[in-house]
Amino acid sequence: MATKIIPPAPKVGMVSLGCPKALVDSERILTKLRSDGYQMSPDYAGADVVLVNTCGFLDSAKEESLEAIGEAIAENGRVIVTGCMGNEADVIRARFPQVLAVTGAHQYEAVVNAVHEASPPVPNAFVDLVPEGGLKLTPRHYSYLKISEGCNHRCSFCIIPSIRGDLVSRRIDAVLREAEKLVHAGTRELLVISQDTSAYGVDVRHEPRQWKGAEIRTHMTDLARALGDLGVWTRLHYVYPYPHVDQVIPLMAEGKLTPYLDIPFQHASPKVLKAMKRPANDAKVLDRIRGWRDICPDIAIRSSFVVGFPGETEEDFQYLLDWLDEAQLDRVGAFRFEPVEGAAANALPDPVPEEVKEERYARIMEKTAAISAARLQAKVGRTLPVIVDEVGEMDEDGSIGATARSQADAPEIDGNVFLRDVQIGRADLKPGDILDVLIEDADEHDLYGVPVENQPR
Ligand code: SF4
Repeated sequence: MATKIIPPAPKVGMVSLGCPKALVDSERILTKLRSDGYQMSPDYAGADVVLVNTCGFLDSAKEESLEAIGEAIAENGRVIVTGCMGNEADVIRARFPQVLAVTGAHQYEAVVNAVHEASPPVPNAFVDLVPEGGLKLTPRHYSYLKISEGCNHRCSFCIIPSIRGDLVSRRIDAVLREAEKLVHAGTRELLVISQDTSAYGVDVRHEPRQWKGAEIRTHMTDLARALGDLGVWTRLHYVYPYPHVDQVIPLMAEGKLTPYLDIPFQHASPKVLKAMKRPANDAKVLDRIRGWRDICPDIAIRSSFVVGFPGETEEDFQYLLDWLDEAQLDRVGAFRFEPVEGAAANALPDPVPEEVKEERYARIMEKTAAISAARLQAKVGRTLPVIVDEVGEMDEDGSIGATARSQADAPEIDGNVFLRDVQIGRADLKPGDILDVLIEDADEHDLYGVPVENQPR
């Protein structure tokens, strides 16, 4: 019988910039291309065409995107641009007239069609090559789960609604099916992402769907409960403190949900929050945080803040520092205000001079580092569950270390737990394993420990 020769499949390179949401888009595009018979190329040289998934959130991110496009053109020459910056096709084409195609955010079909055109798929390609759970750019043991797209808010510093449009929630049964597939494929930690997780389902009036023989609403609390039943770590990101957030805290106390909330507060001064047009701008949020900690003492709260927003006075900034003293947040990211082209905040009066922004940035970093250090120090001597990200090589003393994270640490953005002597009794330790660790030391951002099996009995 004659052997059927299948011509080699075209190869696609991918440069993925921007936030976790953009990463999920890249995964979807790659999953679709792989199912169309394409191979992935880890480098420019081996790629028939290179996709650059861009970020257009800040002007600095746009510049980074343009640099990435320039590099891909110089290294390969056959480049397709997609993602948030794709909405500014004229800017891209003016600088790089040779790009093959430009498509915007979430135009999966358009970007896949552009790849088909630039480098047609081989006929009779095997299509069943996609592993369960799709192709992932994150390690196998954790996965981002995007539940909605777009946002109904209009924060004055943000242009995401104009790029991504109003909130569109995914069907809850589809989200849960995806989560289940990911868990079957080896995911031990789910990271729920969106622009506004608390608003999930508002656009479809929390429409009920069938899931495992019962009705389930398209609502954050129903979703959290159902994800909790999957038995893996589940973190909620981009949560705004609407009243119904209180209902997920008992799930954290029961161990169903990871005791972690990522709430981008951005500021504390009521005047600045009003100028920012922030959602769920609740003056009683400190009381709410206290209440959450009463129910679930181990809850870790992560947030981000903007300093130097137009009109922010020294008094507003001091209000924020005092608020942080009270709130005792576990993890904080701070940013200096940067005007983004097209954002309403650019027209606000009283811009804060750059040197004042820098000085405030240094002060908030100092404050939040001290709070973080004290909160981490309080964990020394406790035994905590950690998830392993990476197992190291053996050192000259024959000991092996590992990098892990506690439930208070989301990947990429929070701290680590560095483990020593992990091989004793755990020769097969691998990424995704969850084990109990005795915390021996702490610094400003990270913990240090040893698996409890290693402790003298
Ligand atoms: S909540 Fe505000 S900052 Fe977040 S995406 Fe919506 S408009 Fe932008």
